[in-house]
Amino acid sequence: MAMEKGIYDQLKRPLKDLRISVTDQCNFRCTYCMPKEIFDKDYSFLDKKELLSFDEIVTIAERFVSLGVTKLRITGGEPLMRKNLPELIGRLNQLEGLEDLALTTNGVLLPRVAEDLKKAGMDRVTVSLDSLDSELFGRINGRGTGVEPVLAGMQAAHEAGLKIKVNMMVRKGVNEQEIVPMARYFKRTPYILRFIEFMDVGTTNGWNLKEVVTKEEILKTIQTELPLRPVRENYYGEVASRFQFADGENEIGIISSISDAFCSACTRARLSADGKIFTCLFASKGVDFRTPLREGATKKDLDQMITSLWESRTDRYSDERRIDAGKKEKIEMSYIGG
Ligand code: SAM
Ligand code: SF4
Ligand code: SF4
Repeated sequence: MAMEKGIYDQLKRPLKDLRISVTDQCNFRCTYCMPKEIFDKDYSFLDKKELLSFDEIVTIAERFVSLGVTKLRITGGEPLMRKNLPELIGRLNQLEGLEDLALTTNGVLLPRVAEDLKKAGMDRVTVSLDSLDSELFGRINGRGTGVEPVLAGMQAAHEAGLKIKVNMMVRKGVNEQEIVPMARYFKRTPYILRFIEFMDVGTTNGWNLKEVVTKEEILKTIQTELPLRPVRENYYGEVASRFQFADGENEIGIISSISDAFCSACTRARLSADGKIFTCLFASKGVDFRTPLREGATKKDLDQMITSLWESRTDRYSDERRIDAGKKEKIEMSYIGG
């Protein structure tokens, strides 16, 4: 790839995306993300004053965009639990140089906000759904919520004019029997389904390599009933391998961060809800931007912080996973955002 303007890390990867977690709270307790035994009433979530304000989020995002970021994704926790989120979306959407503004949600609160999100300038949302079987889905999300509220959320988003992708996390012994029904169901919709390998994010989900259903296994499972053909990647750094159904109706994606890591093209930084920047999903430490910001850091100071952080970046955790699997202390997905 030709070197464009912008900032590059030690492995020559440009800084292109920023994921912004707007809350560490969630209305679900997915077993693989926020198991309810740990994220219970005694768990200490961030205080309101610890959360970045919208002004602070916009200030940080603006500096990232000025340094070459073209994509922002809002996540959490459950981002729709953050009050007045459309206001933040509207402000981020004004940033000069931004090309793509998206959101990942469990979908349940979409009927309330989909129209306001669209009006604020959001183009697309990713909705997570791990099964079409309400009983199983209720067990996975730890709250007994069935599939209907999520499908209703997708419908509301669709009617509001938002494009939709659906994320299905696949875990062996839990929901791999749902791969084909999900593929079949979403094939007929305007939504693109993406399968995600179960990842060893955080330290609370009891991850085990044996529970990963690999990209190859997912493909093989679907192909037994629904033939597929590969589609070329859309852009450098695209994380999902794409496959079109052989009859031309719709496509699927597979995000294979375990079996086929994509660190060499990882252009993404993450901002936690309390203002720390992480340069890898599997990082154990972030760099605090909230304190300098609250102490009056200038735009130039922030640019310097971002540049020196990115330029010294060497993260390639997934590539290295096989060597020292499980030895590192890591941050929880619900805190840093997916
Ligand atoms: N609450 C929102 C949601 O569920 O879409 C946004 C945050 S959630 C952390 C973002 C994505 O991460 C979801 O699609 C979820 O399935 C995925 N995820 C969480 N933990 C995971 C894990 N251990 N392995 C793979 N994907 C995971
Ligand atoms: Fe909440 Fe999303 Fe994590 Fe599920 S995956 S517990 S919905 S943050
Ligand atoms: Fe990027 Fe880290 Fe994931 Fe590799 S492991 S793709 S560097 S976030």
